[in-house]
Amino acid sequence: MNFITKHIKGISIFLFAAAVVAGAAYFTLTKPHSYTFYAFDTFVNLKLYGRGSDKAAKAAESLLLELENELSLYRKKSTTEKINSAPVGEPVAISDEYRKILERAFEISEKSGGAFDITVYPSVELWDVKNRTYPPSDAEIKAAAAKIGYKKLVLTADGVVKTDDVKIDLGGIAKGYGGDRVKELLMEKGIKRGIINMGGNVCTINEKNRKEGWRVGICDPFDISKVITHEEVRDMSVVTSGAYQRYFEYEGVKYHHIISPFNGKPAESDLASVTVICEDGLSGDAVSTAVFVMGSEKGGKLIEEMNLEAIFVKKDGEIVKFRRNSN
Ligand code: AMP
Ligand code: MG
Repeated sequence: MNFITKHIKGISIFLFAAAVVAGAAYFTLTKPHSYTFYAFDTFVNLKLYGRGSDKAAKAAESLLLELENELSLYRKKSTTEKINSAPVGEPVAISDEYRKILERAFEISEKSGGAFDITVYPSVELWDVKNRTYPPSDAEIKAAAAKIGYKKLVLTADGVVKTDDVKIDLGGIAKGYGGDRVKELLMEKGIKRGIINMGGNVCTINEKNRKEGWRVGICDPFDISKVITHEEVRDMSVVTSGAYQRYFEYEGVKYHHIISPFNGKPAESDLASVTVICEDGLSGDAVSTAVFVMGSEKGGKLIEEMNLEAIFVKKDGEIVKFRRNSN
């Protein structure tokens, strides 16, 4: 593993050419067709090159809205809602697609020692960072945290069974999966090059041209109007988890949306943001959330073990880049 550590102070050189779009940035020479719509609780922007992009973009929007209806716990008829409202012990039927997402989620839970855990919903609901203005009490935090535990959810031939009263939230993995599905669909529709940006989760199709990959800017977690560094990627997903994305502030402290399953509180580590670059956005999304919880030391080990590319922005401003080991 080639491990590069950089202390970046004079990073403003990156800013001149960068256009920030919801946490990520990219550059183009020829003009793409651009489409923006709202799905998965965020603005989705597609930059597509080639003929047929209007139809392809419409199909992508429909696909994401369909997926949201299936995955979102806030949709009454979603599988997630069915699981959350099902009685303990009663199997809930799931599609093959849903099973694949759960299997991948559990795999990352295992690999991360429980830092990634989709059963974190009771704490997510309690902290409700969109609407809350002050933190919950310690007793409330403890009671919610006691309900967390992905092992209380079991995959069987019939579907999924709760062995205890757990509730799931696929928010830490769904956008990565959505990006993968949209990419697949756009390519089937003949799109040869493009960028899917789902609120900072960027998924690239092929490369910008024969000479260059896509230049993706990584948002500065200390000043989100800026780009802190950039990466040139080809056909990869670039997924970021950061404390700056969703939070409320109380008495000078920011309480954000990524929960430590170990104590039911917004995760406190030495990391300000984690970006994972990989072919599979579903895994990248889960891993970036996990690493954010784990911190740079344990999280760095996981990145190395999984042989992924990643960029950590530490709270002290240090930027750590992990490159893939090609051996
Ligand atoms: P992300 O922005 O991909 O890091 O995911 C954060 C979202 O995932 C939150 O808004 C929650 O819905 C959910 N979440 C929060 N903490 C965790 C966790 N430790 N493991 C799995 N999902 C989480
Ligand atoms: Mg994630």
